[in-house]
Amino acid sequence: MKSYKKELYFNTPTRRAFINITKEVEKCVKESGIKEGLCLVNAMHITASVFINDDESGLHKDFENWLEKLAPEKPYSQYHHNTFENNADAHLKRTIMGREVVIAITDGKLDFGPWEQIFYGEFDGKRNKRVLVKIIGE
Ligand code: ZN
Repeated sequence: MKSYKKELYFNTPTRRAFINITKEVEKCVKESGIKEGLCLVNAMHITASVFINDDESGLHKDFENWLEKLAPEKPYSQYHHNTFENNADAHLKRTIMGREVVIAITDGKLDFGPWEQIFYGEFDGKRNKRVLVKIIGE
């Protein structure tokens, strides 16, 4: 069995962002040389997500509005976690949007359903963050 690991780096200029990382992950699959296997992509931070959905700007605004309703950023005082850092909303948003995705690799390619794309979801940006890509198979 072969295994491959790579880290992707982010530092978003805004507090929240959704970034399509499908091309970067496809590059990893190619580099790995693995034809049949599994590809794990996970955020290495508890205020960021990796998820799969449609690359459609209206939907991304809907996610933003929905997450703000569930866990509004402000007022900061509404959260017990906000003592020396005001990022409780980012922890909650990350939990809803998920930590990782696993995609099958078939015939050397990510085996997606229709319209599936991989996104990095940032909820507490303007700092250095990482995503792990781990691929196993043969
Ligand atoms: Zn925190």
